[in-house]
Amino acid sequence: MKIAILPGDGIGPEIVAEAVRVLRALELPLEMETAPVGGAAYEAHGHPLPESTLKLAQAADAVLFGAVGDWKYDRLERPLRPEQAILGLRKHLGLFANLRPAICYPQLTHASSLKPELVAGLDILIVRELTGDIYFGQPRGRRTAPDGAFAGAPEAFDTMRYSRPEIERIAHVAFQAARKRGKKVTSVDKANVLETFQFWKDVVTEVHVQYPDVQLEHMYVDNAAMQLVKAPKAFDVIVTGNMFGDILSDEAAMLTGSIGMLPSASLDANNKGLYEPSHGSAPDIAGKGVANPLATILSAAMMLRYSLAQPEAADRIERAVQAVLAAGLRTGDIWSEGTTRVGTREMGDAVVAAITGKTITKS
Ligand code: NAD
Repeated sequence: MKIAILPGDGIGPEIVAEAVRVLRALELPLEMETAPVGGAAYEAHGHPLPESTLKLAQAADAVLFGAVGDWKYDRLERPLRPEQAILGLRKHLGLFANLRPAICYPQLTHASSLKPELVAGLDILIVRELTGDIYFGQPRGRRTAPDGAFAGAPEAFDTMRYSRPEIERIAHVAFQAARKRGKKVTSVDKANVLETFQFWKDVVTEVHVQYPDVQLEHMYVDNAAMQLVKAPKAFDVIVTGNMFGDILSDEAAMLTGSIGMLPSASLDANNKGLYEPSHGSAPDIAGKGVANPLATILSAAMMLRYSLAQPEAADRIERAVQAVLAAGLRTGDIWSEGTTRVGTREMGDAVVAAITGKTITKS
């Protein structure tokens, strides 16, 4: 099993180093090779996604990615900015399905903006289509309005569109993920207003016939946004388009309280994927040894589950993270009165210790 390790910028190298140590502790036959990406790659090779890094990612079974970006690169022309590396990897690797779990660990319920009883034990998976929808539809642009009440005025427009194969493949990802979890999919649309999403609803309903063991419900996006804060535990897997998924996944992230805890995966049609924490490169705390490595460690667990077919190893990591939280260890972002504040390295040490069966002591 070949893994491309792309640490990136800011806290990326610190948090990825801990995830790599956790992966090594599993003693699986994993071949890991590291390459620069983002600002680090621009410094070394003059491009955020050099050919050698892209080749490594293409040859690997999965990519473990830290984060990219720093304010100091804001002056660069757009194609050379660190964030372009993510778009390039998505495009070249054909990553169309974004999976973002929102899990609220019982020990961290106080960090949520909702009442503890609404979020304790929350475990939602948002499956967002990543390459279509109004974000990429053509034509788009600015022009003089050709007709209507404001004919002759300057206007801007975008095009919302989805083809049948694009909807089918994301629906399959959602139904297959639901089979490994609570066996329920909520397809979020705006079929009452948008033709694109009436079509989305029709196609998801057709694909569902192949998954009789999974329950399917349809929900309008405005209602879904409401239900996410009213009764979030009623959801299992949510599948939706690019724009609705963009918004709902951030809303769901906030239910859990800390961005430092949230992993993510972006998959292609063969379950090859790129795994990364949901947060950015946090330049404000980079190099201080205080970043929370758990989102990256949990991304490594997702990688084992979705791309490397090692569900037991994924479970071992997730159980180890829970054990560390239960032992009261916290990085600054999730610290609260009565718990023990630790740094990035100590948090990694504790997860490794929990995996290898050593006791974690609360100092
Ligand atoms: P950010 O997610 O990097 O940071 C937001 C806040 O959360 C900061 O206060 C930061 O210290 C904190 N934070 C983030 N991750 C943390 C962790 N693991 N542990 C503890 N605290 C953590 O978002 P931002 O500040 O808006 O962006 C910073 C840079 O990251 C920008 O250059 C942006 O473009 C880039 N970015 C990259 C990605 C990515 O690589 N996928 C995603 C988002 C932003």
